[in-house]
Amino acid sequence: MIEFGYVCSECGREYAITPELMVCPSCSGEQRSARPLRGVLEVGLVGALDGAWDVLDRLPVERRFFPAIPVGGTPLWAPQHLRDELGYPNLFIKDDTLNPTASLKDRASFLVAAFARKHGIRDIVVASTGNAASSMAGVGAAAGLRVTSFVPRTAPRAKMVQSLQYGARVVPVDGNYDLAFELSLEYARTRGYLSRNTAYNPLTIEGKKTAALEIYRQLGRAPDYVVVPVGDGVILAGVYKGFRDLRQLGLIDRVPVIYAAQAEGSSGITRAFRSGDFDAAYSARTVADSISVDVPRNGYHAVKQLREFGGRCVTATDEAILGAQQRLASSTGLFAEPSAAAAFAGFLASVKEIPHEATVVLLVTGSGLKDIDSAMRVVTLPERAVSRLDEIG
Ligand SMILES: *Cc1c(COP(=O)(O)O)cnc(C)c1O
Repeated sequence: MIEFGYVCSECGREYAITPELMVCPSCSGEQRSARPLRGVLEVGLVGALDGAWDVLDRLPVERRFFPAIPVGGTPLWAPQHLRDELGYPNLFIKDDTLNPTASLKDRASFLVAAFARKHGIRDIVVASTGNAASSMAGVGAAAGLRVTSFVPRTAPRAKMVQSLQYGARVVPVDGNYDLAFELSLEYARTRGYLSRNTAYNPLTIEGKKTAALEIYRQLGRAPDYVVVPVGDGVILAGVYKGFRDLRQLGLIDRVPVIYAAQAEGSSGITRAFRSGDFDAAYSARTVADSISVDVPRNGYHAVKQLREFGGRCVTATDEAILGAQQRLASSTGLFAEPSAAAAFAGFLASVKEIPHEATVVLLVTGSGLKDIDSAMRVVTLPERAVSRLDEIG
């Protein structure tokens, strides 16, 4: 039997898991504006494994509350051409574009939706650059929940259309993701709705850990390296959490080396990893909208883990990200959105540091179909239509 509770990532205080509790009441008193969240809570587990286990049983909500939409269980596969081209015979892709709403965000939405059902909550509010909103909308539709999302009005249209198709209420924000984050928290607070804001709701980190649990099960062991695209640092924290759970349960003996891949124009966590602090005046600008954040909400917690487990940071320019997106698509058949391709760009920039025999997993977090405008920048649509074959040049 395994039991769950919340543990503060800063002071270590323990709390019971309740819908009202989001950040550590004690450490959140230190919160300053334009800074990462203080008092981010993690789910702690106590107990031991009792025989065979399933990923869903490693989560703090009982199986019967999860909606009937197939989140997770995504393939881990071997991109043969890329392995040959780069000389990495043990390179793998974890393809999370194959989640129901086409991004890894579904893993967090799935757990939050189950939690809401368990506690009889009908309304969920989320701030998002686009994917968390469309994900919560889709998984929420399957769970019979009402979803309101706050998104920058510049969010890729496909992500907004997804949300609307799923029946969510979309509130465009005349500002960036950081403003959407603040407005959504206030909205949730005044109405008594459940916030799914990333890092703020502890179940977002916990839900994303399933990616690491699955990688372990699919490989039959932990990989040596995992490359993760990073904005707020919640996927990163989730991947760490999954491997830490596995270590705690005695299934692996060490946590893999994790690369935090960021866009050069949105590199808050990388900068803090190097300088020791976050710059309150930092303004992000990158084509990779899903990892574009001024203030990485999970910044303190993410940097702490990178330090503790020997993680590394790498950045890529927008040009390198768009190039990596096209290279990944054309050599593997996997079309990723720019933020997801940032992991591949980060890997390409790090090959000198990664031994060729190492087992490396690229976490591909979102589909390229979610942001066609960015992908269009590096391809040219054929202009002329033909009616006869001799018109083809
Ligand atoms: C949200 C997201 C990320 C970054 O996750 P963080 O938890 O914000 O670091 C990366 N890729 C995609 C496709 C995303 O939607």
